[in-house]
Amino acid sequence: MIDAILTLNSGSSSIKFALFEADGGSDIPRIAGKIRGIGTQPVFVAVGADGHLLAPDGLARIDAGAGHDTLIGALLGWIDNHDDGFRLVMAGHRVVHGGRTYMGPVEINRDIVADLARLAPLAPMHQPHSLAAIKAMAAASPGLRQIACFDTSFHRTQPSVAQSFALPRHLTEAGVLKYGFHGLSYEYIASVLPEQMPTVAAGRVVVAHLGSGASLCAMKDRCSVATTMGFTALDGLVMGRRPGRLDCGVVLYLLQDMGMSPADVQHLLYRQSGLLGVSGISNDMRVLLGSSDPAARAAIDLFCYRAASELAGLCVALGGLDGIVFTAGIGENAPEIRKRICSQLEWMGVVLDETANAAGEARISAVSSKVTVHVIATNEELVIARAARGALNN
Ligand code: ADP
Repeated sequence: MIDAILTLNSGSSSIKFALFEADGGSDIPRIAGKIRGIGTQPVFVAVGADGHLLAPDGLARIDAGAGHDTLIGALLGWIDNHDDGFRLVMAGHRVVHGGRTYMGPVEINRDIVADLARLAPLAPMHQPHSLAAIKAMAAASPGLRQIACFDTSFHRTQPSVAQSFALPRHLTEAGVLKYGFHGLSYEYIASVLPEQMPTVAAGRVVVAHLGSGASLCAMKDRCSVATTMGFTALDGLVMGRRPGRLDCGVVLYLLQDMGMSPADVQHLLYRQSGLLGVSGISNDMRVLLGSSDPAARAAIDLFCYRAASELAGLCVALGGLDGIVFTAGIGENAPEIRKRICSQLEWMGVVLDETANAAGEARISAVSSKVTVHVIATNEELVIARAARGALNN
């Protein structure tokens, strides 16, 4: 039997999972996969360590209405019956919000689950799904050790000025702070910077995590000193469905003058805004890049303009800039977007090598560029697996 760690990243309509060996320290999961279409028609996809498709029809008989608990039970059953003989020794979960308390991974017990549930209003589109997965795992495999790894923890190194809003002190003391998110992604990038960008790793770097959710993190010597997301994952950059930074007066206007309820406003801000809202076409950057509709161009223009201006703003926290890293779905795969963001930063000495950028090479800045620009694929699962290995060895 092979002792294994299962990592889970649970969203509303998908669960990403990976199975790592507990011993041996390989960075490559034995199995990686996704259950998508939760709530409509769940589809299970998994690949082995060498990239070959595993049981593409596996779990094919899942009911259309199956929820996280049924699907996690089915996933555990599939892993149990796998020919390679895995024995789960720990499950590690991505949990979006760890508030002020959780500065690093934590082993889950009933009290921690209750504590994390209290943070759900701060991440209403994310936290409940992580909690559902934790509870489903406990029900399907009682006694299995579980840890939570938080997207907020990486940012707790920030100076208080970067974590504060200009609100009355009692609100700050009550926890109304800039927490920041995408911390597992940033932790992974920070871990590989010395190897991937040795000349700037100890310097001033902005990492651009551009996926469905998007944010920037300013790192000094690989520690977070500022980030664009705030109290919730709504702040900062334009995202697939979220507007990013918004004058709070707009929210008051929607509530007081447009007759919208808080639930309507929540739906507008989490589901109907961003690239989807501006374009009226799609939240998917691939669709927008392939469209000649002026509304698609307007959405892309706003996305790139706001990313460049927020990036420039973070340079105040850094006192300059040595490197930029692009990561996540858009950052890793959309040369056009990287080019359009970087072209608005030329005045700061950012010069791309257009051929390297178009070819998706690791280093995409020109030799003459004052700022080194790289593309690095993120790996949140590995950060969770490393944390689980650490917990198992303690
Ligand atoms: P999440 O993990 O939050 O679902 P991802 O990091 O997978 O997000 O990023 C999803 C985004 O990446 C989508 O907007 C998608 O359109 C975009 N994306 C993925 N591949 C490409 C590509 N080849 N070109 C442009 N955008 C892409």
